[in-house]
Amino acid sequence: MSVPAKKRPAGEKRRRAAHFALKRVKYATCPKCKKSKMPHAVCPFCGSYKGKEVLKSHLDKKELKKAQKQKVRAAEKQQGR
Ligand SMILES: [Zn+2]
Repeated sequence: MSVPAKKRPAGEKRRRAAHFALKRVKYATCPKCKKSKMPHAVCPFCGSYKGKEVLKSHLDKKELKKAQKQKVRAAEKQQGR
């Protein structure tokens, strides 16, 4: 580990540390579902970007899974009879 050549004065240290503060994360609201999301990013709730649906949202995926399960169950019932 390298050793500093001279001791840094407290003022210099503080001046450097003046830029260490974390900036508050800014959120944007989704125009479709009105939930807060990261700006310039696809909404994780409804999967839309600039009002257009880009991704299938997790809610849709859940519904798809449910429908698939119901299909499988119906097929099993028919085979059982
Ligand atoms: Zn949304």
